[in-house]
Order: sequence, then C-alpha cells, then structure tokens
Amino acid sequence: MKSMLPTPSIFRLRILTLVLLLFYFFVLPAQKPAKPTPSDLHQAIKKLNVLGSVLYVAAHPDDENQRFISYCANEKLYNVTYLSLTRGDGGQNLIGTEMGNLLGVLRTEELLMARSVDGGKQRFTRANDFGFSKNPEETLRFWNKDAVLSDVVWAIRETRPDVIVNRFYHDKKYDTHGHHTASAMLSVEAFDLAGKTDAYPEQLQYTAPWQPNRQFFNTSWWFFGGQEAFDKMDKSQLFSLDLGVFLPLKGKSNNELAAEARSMHRCQGFGAMSSRGENKEWFDFVKGERPPAGKDLFAGINTTWSRVPGAEKIGKLLAKVDQKYRGDHPSTSVPDLLKAMQMIKELPEGYWKKIKLAEIKDVIRGCLGIYLEATAAEPIAYPGDAVKIHLEGINRSDLAVTLAAVSIQPALFDTLFALPLAFNQNFKFDKKVQLLFDTPFTGPYWLQTPYSEGMYTVNQQTLRGLPETPRFARVRWSVTVNGIPLEYDTDVAYKVEEPAIGEVWRPFEILPLAFIEFDQPSYMFTTERRDVGVRVKAGREGLRGQISLTAGEGWEVAPAELPVSFKNKGEERTLYFTVTPKASPSETRFSASIRADGKTFTMRHVPIKYEHIPQQSVLLPAIARAARLDVQTKAKNIGYFMGAGDDIPNALRQIGCTVTLLEDKDFEPKNLKKFDAIVLGIRAYNTKEALQLYQPKLLEYVQNGGTLVTQYNNNFDLFVEKPAPYNLKLGRTRVTDENAEVRFLLPEHPVLNTPNKLSADDFKGWVQERGLYFPSEWDPAFAAPLSSNDPGEKPADGALLIAQYGKGYYVYTGISFFREMPAGVPGAYRLFANLISLGK
Ligand SMILES: [Zn+2]
Repeated sequence: MKSMLPTPSIFRLRILTLVLLLFYFFVLPAQKPAKPTPSDLHQAIKKLNVLGSVLYVAAHPDDENQRFISYCANEKLYNVTYLSLTRGDGGQNLIGTEMGNLLGVLRTEELLMARSVDGGKQRFTRANDFGFSKNPEETLRFWNKDAVLSDVVWAIRETRPDVIVNRFYHDKKYDTHGHHTASAMLSVEAFDLAGKTDAYPEQLQYTAPWQPNRQFFNTSWWFFGGQEAFDKMDKSQLFSLDLGVFLPLKGKSNNELAAEARSMHRCQGFGAMSSRGENKEWFDFVKGERPPAGKDLFAGINTTWSRVPGAEKIGKLLAKVDQKYRGDHPSTSVPDLLKAMQMIKELPEGYWKKIKLAEIKDVIRGCLGIYLEATAAEPIAYPGDAVKIHLEGINRSDLAVTLAAVSIQPALFDTLFALPLAFNQNFKFDKKVQLLFDTPFTGPYWLQTPYSEGMYTVNQQTLRGLPETPRFARVRWSVTVNGIPLEYDTDVAYKVEEPAIGEVWRPFEILPLAFIEFDQPSYMFTTERRDVGVRVKAGREGLRGQISLTAGEGWEVAPAELPVSFKNKGEERTLYFTVTPKASPSETRFSASIRADGKTFTMRHVPIKYEHIPQQSVLLPAIARAARLDVQTKAKNIGYFMGAGDDIPNALRQIGCTVTLLEDKDFEPKNLKKFDAIVLGIRAYNTKEALQLYQPKLLEYVQNGGTLVTQYNNNFDLFVEKPAPYNLKLGRTRVTDENAEVRFLLPEHPVLNTPNKLSADDFKGWVQERGLYFPSEWDPAFAAPLSSNDPGEKPADGALLIAQYGKGYYVYTGISFFREMPAGVPGAYRLFANLISLGK
C-alpha cells in the first residue's frame, strides 16, 4: 500500500445547495456563462417534458459508449449519467507528464468535457485505478468491495435510472481487464440493493431507495472475436437500437456528435473520425423486467409527467410551450414557462420536482437572454485576501426583470437592490470583498485525505460520486421575472484578454499564501553529503518566512532554518540545505515547510494546464523520497534518446552519470562512440519515427562495443520492424504485483554481480508493478537472467534480455525502471547501473 501524508484540515465544505449543479441543463466548461442557442433552448424545452433516466456503468474514462450516451441525451432526452468507477489514474498519458492521481484529475476533466458535448452527466466512485488488473478477484482485493458497491448503490439512488446499461459482462465469460468485469459485477449486485431500505441505510438521510426497472449489457463484436463472427451470430435474444439518427436541433448525426465527445479523451489518444448513417448497437438483457421481443430497451417505461402524481397538467402546458416556441423570439415562451414552474413548485417534494425546477429555471434564463457573470480581478487568492469581484448582468428580453439581491460567498457580502434590468441595459457592479480566513482551498476533494492504492477516502457522503469539488466562491443572484422570484448561482471565475486568442476563462482559485516544494522528486545519496533545493513561492507581496527541512533519524540537515523574504506576489526562490545521510544504506523521507504570518504551509502547487480542459490546481504535500545508496557504475557518459517521456535521465544524473539527450547530430558513429551506454526511453519505437533512420546506427554502435538499453514498447504500431539484432517478438506479459518474487535464473551473470552484487533485497520496496510488455519469444542468443510472475501464473522470463552483438551488448527490458527510479527505489538503481555498465 502506498499512502499519502495527511494534509492539514483544509477542507470543510459547508455548502448545502451546490449538489444542484449536477442537474443544470447547460453545461458550463471553465465557469464560462452559458449562451444557449435557440435550438439548445428548443431541445431543453422538449426535455422538460421527458422524465426518464439512464445509468451507464463501466470502469474507466474512455470505456463509455458516447454514441449511446448522446442518443439517450439528445434523441430520447433522458437524463443519462456515465458512472465510471475510477478516474483512470493508473493509465498512461500521451500528451503530458501527469501520472497517477494527477492523471486522474486530467481524465476527470476530459470526461466532463466529453459530457458537455454529448449531453450526459458524470459520476465516479471512490475506487482508485491501481493499474492493469488481470481478473475481478484481484481487482476486488485492491478495491474495498463494500465501499465501491455502496457508491454504485448511491449513484443509482441519486440518479434513479429506469434502465441501467453495463459496458461489460458481469462474469469472466468474456475475458477483459479485471476492473471491467468487476464494474459489471458490482452494477448487477447494486441493481438488487438500491431499492432496499436495509442496504446502506446511512445513505437514506440524503436520498431515497430506488429500484431500477431493468438492466442490460451493451454487447459488441469485440466480445466475439470480430465483426464477421458477430454478424453471423443468432441475435434473436438481443435488443437493438439504431444510434445513427440525425439530430435536427444539433444539425448533426448522433454519430458525429459522439465522435466529438470521444475526441475529448486526448490524453489517451482517442481523437475519432465522425460518421453518418445507420449504426446498430446491441444489448443483452441482464435482469429486471424484460421488454417484449422486437421492442427496444426503453419499451413500456413511463417517461411522461404522469409518472408524478397530479402532474399530468404540467406535461400538457409544456407541450403547448414546445409547439408555440419561436426560435427568433424565445422570450414569448417565458410567461407559460413561469406558469409551469409555479405548478412544479406546488408539487410535493420529490426527485423529479428538484430536477425539473433546476432545468426550467435555466430554460427561462436562456429564453430571456439573461447573462450573469461574476469574475475576480485575479486568478488566485488566499484565505483572508481582499479580492475585487466584478458582477455583470443583462436582460435581453422585453419582460419585466428586476435584480432583487446579490450575495457573494465566501465573503460575508449581501446586498439588496430593487433594480429593474431594462432591455439590453448592462448592469455592472464592482466590490472588493475579504475572503473568510477559513475558506477551503480549491482542489480535488478525493485527494484531501490519505488514501490507498485501491481506494480514495471521502468521508462526506454528499461529496462521494461528484466529478469535481463544488466551487466555494460563488454569487447568488435573486431576480424577479414578471414579479416571480428566481435564484441563480454562478461560480466566480477569472477572465483575461489574450490578444492571440480572445477572451480566455479559467476558474478562480483559492490557494495557500505560500507554496513549497523540493527541486527533485527524490534524492539519491552516493556521497557523504549534498545540497537539497527547496523552492518557495509567495502568494502575496512582502511575504517573509522561515523555511525548514526535516529528514529521518540519523540524517543531518543544516542549517535548521533558512529565512526568506519576497518583494512581489508570485515571486519564486530556491534555497539550499546541506544534508548528510546516514552512514549505511537507508531510506527516508524529506518534508519541507514554511512558517509565515503565524501559520505553517506544507503544500506544493501542481497546476494542470491544457487547452481542452479548464485549468486545474492540485495541492500535494511537499515531500521527497531519499536514500543513502550503495551503487557503483562503470558507465559515466550516457546518451539518452527520449521516447514517450520519462524521468530516467534525472535519475541517472543522481548517481553521478553525465546524461546527454540525443538529437539528430549525435547519431553520427563518431559521436555515438563517446557514450559508455545508450538508453532508449519508454515506447521510443512507438513514438519516434526517426528511429527508422537511427536503428542501423545504433546497432553498429553496439557491434563496435557499445551498450544499448531498450526500455519497453507496446507490441503494436512500431516504427521499426526489428528493434533487436536477433529475433525478438514483443509481447504483452505483465507482472502487476510489485512484490512478486524475482528469481535469479543465471546467478553468475554479470548483470546480477557487477559492479553491484544484487540480492533479493534489491527487489523490495518496488512500486505499482514489476514490469510490462515483456517479449514473448527470443533468440537463443539472448540471456534471460530474471524470472517473475503474478500469483497463480506461469513464470515470465522475458523481463530482462541481454545479448552480445559484435563487441557490445544489446539489452531489452520491460522492467518498470521509469516508475521505480523516480520513486527512489534503491534496487532499481543498482540493477540499472549494472545494465549500463555491461560493456565496461
Ligand atoms: Zn477500461
């Protein structure tokens, strides 16, 4: 289990109404006020008359069927939610360096952007994506099965689906990732539990039991070995839908819209081409009430207002609004919409009342052309800071709209107006407010409490499942329309004019007064002492403080404290401590803090910036792993050719190597010759087309006595046919258990003995996995000195393959050095040092 350090108790969310955000119809990426088109409004009016709900269940960002979600949202006008059990934290990142919890944040945002296109809603559970899992039994050992099941039940109770659709099958009949099968198993179990009052009764103070009507498995040709086999199959027991419908109010085919949504999964490289025309999708009945043969999966389910007692007349009125709607004059619908809203308000409290009230308020605002904006003068502030908030509101209809009151949270600002918002007259109001001292910091709620490899910890029931932390800084606008009161909430955002782009919006963030971090993720000590850099950033001008660094017992840090002072806000400075390690090999953890303004700050700030998502901020503890390492290397001068991206070059510098990142000019034989070893970064053959040119030169380098270390590649989409000088077939074998036994098949081989004598101890304390994509076949010229396997599997001997070629050494390895070395695992350093030293 790896766990995070506890963070200060910074996170106390005290907002009651925020969960309502989930029900809004117009999705607002990056806090930008929505500007619905006449067709958006027309679709929203039609949707007011549809009371149906669908839940789609799978395991990861990208598992979801966007065509089905878009079809439910835009053709059927249901509320459709994608429940992704995890945030995809354990995957790979094709567009940047975020991994683990940070990748989970990026993928969460990509899912939200996909939903803003396809019209679905998004939810999660507390399950942490711990990486590839071979079967559901293993998955449910890492996840807390009962906790994840309770979150699926919670999702069902909160979204009250009539129909649940699982992306995967609920037993091992179709072999796939263990998370996938587990997601369907939990969904099937939750189907039976959600309606029972004795299941997870602690949830019932916030929600009500709900029994869904029916459940399906969204089957596909890829479970049956190919399209051709699937076409020939008897499908008389299956149900189908044509998802290729044209959506006139969108001006697009459903498939086209879904491709746009899918293309938001950029960090997984899922940009997709659009298509048009018929597109059949198949569903296998799982449980509940089976629809009659020949009908679709929604057959016989009442999705009209008549499902709410006494509400039929609302449906009739809304049908009239739909018929009389004028795209060139949407505000003509408002008087009847206000009437319908009043009728909904008179209904007894209930699920659909809550949903439809939120929707109709949004539609009314859109039909009136009301625009409400709340922006801060600066993008970042700290608790207690004074911030200028700019408010702007305008009514672009001829109805009588009045601004009655405005309140700004989290300052204690409340004011009453009785200001008529006349047609197209812009209301502007600026107010400097002081943020409360106990305002919580912005950041993902699931990363605020220590968590394990398989589960996030979220103590507050009402936060569980939410895609993001509700924003704390917001403005509540009280308006009246034709004398009828309405309230709207807007998040405070930040906007800036960027000459090359135009108006750019980003979230307004509340962050600590000072940030502190180490200048490296880990520190390897091979000498008596070294300097360790600590970077500090000021959140306000004139900040002064004292910095300190703590290490484990037996490690010495000098000086005890360092003073620091800043002139400007945003200024950064790096200060150095001298650390003397323990005399014998040992590991420890450094932590850093700054005392300023009577408080202690211990967090580093990790911004996540991409053009396709709103900017995110994650606060993580300022810690670093450190080790006194007994490592020798005979190779000092290393050439490194970067593949998909990894941090091995820095790791090698820590043990005294000089590392050159190779460029075109370096691939001349005379230039290559000067390197003691050349290392190819992870997935180099998958990502670097230039290797087609360089490959013969690299092999020539080996022939002449060099050492080439190739790290793992996917076994498909390679830019060269043969990465090795001998026969080598890349495979997909993984060892996912980081504690799996590692056996020495060739104990006398130099790679296990020189210059570092390795033992079983060197394979202790590894993280996440042993390795991945091990070759499946290799020429007898290769030596395979190591063997390992996951529990219950046959030995995998392809983790490390070494061959002599000419006067040099060729090495291919799937061992996860790219994870272990940046994480400061001593044994990984010692083994890697032996690899690069092979030719010396
Ligand atoms: Zn998946």
